[in-house]
This record gives sequence, C-alpha cells and structure tokens, in this order.
Amino acid sequence: MSGNPKPLPDMRRNRERMVRQQLMPRGISDEAVLAAMGCVPRHLFVQEALRAQAYEDHPLPIGNGQTISQPFIVAFMSQLLEAKPGMRVLEIGTGSGYQAAVLAEMGLDVYTVERIREIYQTTRDLLRALRYTRIRCRLDDGTLGWPESAPFDRIIVTAGGPEIPVPLVEQLADPGVMVLPVGVSRRSQELVVVRKRDGKLFRSNRGGVSFVDLVGCHGW
Ligand code: SAH
Repeated sequence: MSGNPKPLPDMRRNRERMVRQQLMPRGISDEAVLAAMGCVPRHLFVQEALRAQAYEDHPLPIGNGQTISQPFIVAFMSQLLEAKPGMRVLEIGTGSGYQAAVLAEMGLDVYTVERIREIYQTTRDLLRALRYTRIRCRLDDGTLGWPESAPFDRIIVTAGGPEIPVPLVEQLADPGVMVLPVGVSRRSQELVVVRKRDGKLFRSNRGGVSFVDLVGCHGW
C-alpha cells in the first residue's frame, strides 16, 4: 500500500515458507489445497498489529474472543473435504473469512454463516474488497444451516459444539462430506468426518483439535 511508513516483510515469501514447512511435511498433499494456501493473503485476514505473525504456526485472535485457525488446521480440514471445483460448500463460522477464501480459491462456491454481527460485517466487507465473488455471507445461527440453498456437496464447521447438528446432516447432499469438530467439553474436540452415501451416514474421527465454541440451537 502506498504511503505505508513501515513496509511489511515479503508476505509472499512467508506464505511459500508456510506451505513448505508447516503443510507439506505434515501430510498435506492435495495440490488444490497447497495452491490455495500459497496464494490467499492470510495477513489481510488478521488485525493490522498482528500482520507480521500471520504466517506463523498457530491461531491468532481476531477480536470478540474469536480466532483465525492455525494454517495447518485450515489446510487439513480443506483436504478432508475431498472437494472438486464447482462444488457447493457451506461453512459455519465465517470468522476472519480466511477459510472461506481458501475454499473459494480451490474453485468452490462458498456459503458462509457467522453469528456475531460485528465479525460478519467486517468480514463481508473484506471479502468484497478482495473480490471473492464466489463467497456468500450470512448473519445467522449456522447450526440451523442455510436451508434455502441446500443441499450442499460439502459442509465445514469451524467452531466446536457438543454434537453433530441435525439440520446440517439433513442439508448435506448424497453423496456428501462434512468435516467438523465435536467435543463433550468446550475447547477440546475430536475432528469428525461424516460421509453420506446411499442414504447412510459413516463417521470417522481424525484426531484432537481445539476450536472456539459453536454457540446456537444445536451448539453450546
Ligand atoms: N473459519 C474461521 C474460524 C473462525 S473462529 C476463520 O477462518 O477465521 C469460529 C467462528 O465461528 C467465530 O467467528 C464464531 O463467532 C463463529 N460461530 C460460533 N458459533 C456459530 C454459529 N452457531 N453460527 C455461525 N457462526 C458461529
């Protein structure tokens, strides 16, 4: 940006290093995920004071007690979706908009829901300014899904609740894949993959994670 008195370090180089050091060695091999993570400007999705830390190997605060996930977790969940360009994906927990931007960059049509008005407004404006036209934002309790636009080929939930929200299962296409953190206690969840095929559901657990609370009708 012209007139910025303190030029930022080379963000593109930081991004490439993040992909090489945090994602590839830990099993992220989906080329579409690696390419998207290598091009979405993560530093623009965090508060200005934290930009220099944007590509570090941990989550960061985004205000209102919420966080932008660690880069590896964004990549891991994106890979677990096994998505193809042109698919429709529903995200619950817009937050900074970073995960949504990564999914859009992978060629998906993204529907994302956020429950906190301030976050919703800031992020909607940012995504517009960055010209992510494939992303539609909504202010609502995402545990109820987005019924008018269902079914969705893929669903991703980026906040942790006590159960798998029933409306989301209903709004998942057949075949379809949903990835979400589920936990009996707050801040500590299991990453769960739910597959729908021929009217049946299959669940598998993919390890421990720690997300902020999913708050709503089918959340905490
Ligand atoms: N995907 C985000 C992660 C943000 S943290 C990113 O890339 O930055 C999770 C977000 O989920 C928070 O902003 C929180 O307000 C939101 N959230 C929690 N419960 C929700 C619900 N029921 N519906 C929609 N959003 C919810």
